[in-house]
Amino acid sequence: MAKVYFLDMRKRYKKNILEKFIDLLKTSRALDIVKKNDLCAVKLHIGEQGNVNFVGPQYVRLITQLIEDRGANTFLTDTTTLYAGRRYRGDLHIELAREHGFDFSPFIVADGLYGDDYVEVDDCKIARLFTQIDRLFVVSHFKGHLNCGFGGTIKNLGMGCASKGGKLAMHSRSKPTIDINTCNMCLRCFDYCLYQAIKKKKDHLEIDHGLCTGCGGCMSICPDRAIKFSWDAASEDIQKEIARYASAVIKNKKAFYINFLINISPNCDCFHSNEPMIAPDIGILGSFDPVALDQACYDFIKEPIDKLHPELDPQVQLHYAEKFGAGERKYEIKVI
Ligand code: SF4
Ligand code: SF4
Repeated sequence: MAKVYFLDMRKRYKKNILEKFIDLLKTSRALDIVKKNDLCAVKLHIGEQGNVNFVGPQYVRLITQLIEDRGANTFLTDTTTLYAGRRYRGDLHIELAREHGFDFSPFIVADGLYGDDYVEVDDCKIARLFTQIDRLFVVSHFKGHLNCGFGGTIKNLGMGCASKGGKLAMHSRSKPTIDINTCNMCLRCFDYCLYQAIKKKKDHLEIDHGLCTGCGGCMSICPDRAIKFSWDAASEDIQKEIARYASAVIKNKKAFYINFLINISPNCDCFHSNEPMIAPDIGILGSFDPVALDQACYDFIKEPIDKLHPELDPQVQLHYAEKFGAGERKYEIKVI
């Protein structure tokens, strides 16, 4: 049974949270996978411009310091996005990382300037960098997600380590439609869509599903929530693909995974703005097993997650991640 180390932030401690976070890393022996001169990547999500829910640099800095203390080399990394935003292209992503305080360690875009630098692993388009490193630390913000129910480590690995082409393939069945009764014709989505998939008709807009990549960006910027996705079958497909990609990324790799169950927002950190939280802060959890880790986090906030998207089954990603060999769903909590 996999061990999941848990720092409960609902309690009072004599030490501050950053000191307790170091305790979590030390008690779990997370750093034992690092040897002198190793090249260690810290995979994170720096948050879209305007979002403040992402895992802050104060935590990530401690991880890089502890890696460096072992005589290893480290850097921060993430991939380019499909949707139009500040992380769409490599140079813009690096600039935003600096603006969001991730300036204490090099930030390298794993799939290159245009998101097209990848290696095929088990028929998955994985950003090349993840095939070149010795060790991996994955820092994830656990929260709601519009087509997976929740997003945690499996999502951060599967979608977050894929090149643009890989992301495109995973999203291919999730296509939005515009509710013409709700749309106010502000044209924000029309101007926004990078793929020119939104077409002007006489008195309404339509999405050309032949051009649409399913990136979901238009949905996140629509002020009237007039853009809807049909998630039922698409959600199961995308979760299965994310799990398959996640397994390919960590194949034969030594890694440690950390989920932050704080700032529990209904949507992911790709959203440009903040929304009311769906649950109070719970804490920080870490494990060598990404499946056990996500399962434990989901179990903590199952009720608000299930209420958020009753039409989805977020456990599909856990089921397939286990089936594809990424880890196991059974876990044991070790309180720090
Ligand atoms: S952003 Fe929303 S409200 Fe504005 S045109 Fe697009 S669908 Fe309509
Ligand atoms: S129409 Fe399709 S490709 Fe364009 S922003 Fe929306 S989801 Fe993305």
